[in-house]
Amino acid sequence: MTMQRREFLKAIGATGFAATFAGCAVSERKSGPKVVVVGGGYGGATVAKYLNLWSNRTLDITLIESDRVFVSCPMSNLVLGGSKQLSDLTVTYEGLTKQGIKVLFDMAQAVDPIRGTVRISNQRDIPYDRLVLSPGVDFLYDQVQGMGSAQAQAKVLHAWKAGPQTLALRQQLEAMRDGGVFAISIPKAPYRCPPGPYERACQVAWYFKRAKPRSKVLILDGNEDVISKKGLFMKAWNEDFKGIVEYRPNYVLTGVDVATLTAKFETADDVKADVLNVIPPQRAGAIAAQAGVITANNRWCEVDFLSFESIKVPKIHVLGDAIQIAPLMPKSGHMANQHAKVAAAAILNAFAGQPPNPSPVINNTCYSFITDKDVVHVDSVHQYDKEKKTFATVPGSGGLSPAPSAVEGEYAFAWARNIWSDMLA
Ligand SMILES: Cc1cc2nc3c(=O)[nH]c(=O)nc-3n(C[C@H](O)[C@H](O)[C@H](O)COP(=O)(O)OP(=O)(O)OC[C@H]3O[C@@H](n4cnc5c(N)ncnc54)[C@H](O)[C@@H]3O)c2cc1C
Repeated sequence: MTMQRREFLKAIGATGFAATFAGCAVSERKSGPKVVVVGGGYGGATVAKYLNLWSNRTLDITLIESDRVFVSCPMSNLVLGGSKQLSDLTVTYEGLTKQGIKVLFDMAQAVDPIRGTVRISNQRDIPYDRLVLSPGVDFLYDQVQGMGSAQAQAKVLHAWKAGPQTLALRQQLEAMRDGGVFAISIPKAPYRCPPGPYERACQVAWYFKRAKPRSKVLILDGNEDVISKKGLFMKAWNEDFKGIVEYRPNYVLTGVDVATLTAKFETADDVKADVLNVIPPQRAGAIAAQAGVITANNRWCEVDFLSFESIKVPKIHVLGDAIQIAPLMPKSGHMANQHAKVAAAAILNAFAGQPPNPSPVINNTCYSFITDKDVVHVDSVHQYDKEKKTFATVPGSGGLSPAPSAVEGEYAFAWARNIWSDMLA
């Protein structure tokens, strides 16, 4: 062992077992500190991978994920547009298991923060020294009258978690008559992926323009205005998709008559659609509620932004869409990946008895597909603000595309390939 490596392992409190387990067999590594990660999406897969990498494989890491494969939400609107298949966005967890991370395909049902365990099926408890929750979002169907039943949810789709619903929504679009109306309801912010619904409107319009040119896309936005890349989206709707897309602000959804596909609103008139896509209001995934880490508006988890540790329950870290975001921080996959790296470093420091990095800097780039190739982006840099104890955007750091372009389309596909391998390879 080189001096450098010995010092590093000492710093993370790992010398004892690392020296003993120089052979690096998976079973031998198990006596290191135990980290359990719940959720193998953008936040969870990244934190598992980087804890393993930066600890030189000395931690005992278990990733609990309910789905057998990872299906990316970024790029999933292209499946609705028809230019990509779901298989193009699907990655297995083999890359992580090959690195010695235990991946358990199971549903985490309960957390006992006193005993330090996570309960999975068959009453099995998985012990942890540190727990990371990155469960994404759950939907608040109780805020949309008529949408409470499984039958209603199977007919009026969200397709806001990529997978079977994405395919089902594509099938509804394919089955729709030419001259029909696709209506998309957007909840009030904050919700997962601010530009995502506007990108979806473009993708459906792009499909209609070629396959069903008499059809319409109605955007029924619960917000007062377009909340992301406004100028770029408006230009696309008014020019590329003129006569197809109509944008309506202040459409706060209150209920749905599922039988007639009619959406009802706080103040506006009812809207009847041929295909109705309701993105419901959201909150942190259920396991976060069960673990007692939801602390903001009964919806989101507040964290210490230096470590992403819950402000309420020690030794539980929360990442990604589930957190109460800092100002101007989007709920995005890119951001979840960045949260994960700050948290991984802080957890390793904590095992070594060290404080976290006092000044983390993270960034976000978000691409939106206007057509199958032409893309726009927005990006931002976020720096920890010691006074306010939150992340603040670095003045002058953000950027926005001047116009959609195919070059940006290439960058967007490269972004996706890069981040999937950063998490899972
Ligand atoms: C249509 C669309 C387009 C998007 N486009 C972009 C984009 O271009 N760029 C971008 O950066 N972001 C984009 N996003 C947002 C991005 O998908 C999310 O911000 C990101 O997935 C958040 O990561 P996460 O780890 O918080 O949650 P997720 O990635 O959703 O991961 C959560 C995981 O936890 C698992 N899970 C939950 N509870 C449990 C449990 N109890 N036990 C076991 N497993 C559990 C789930 O199965 C899931 O795999 C888009 C989203 C949508 C819907």
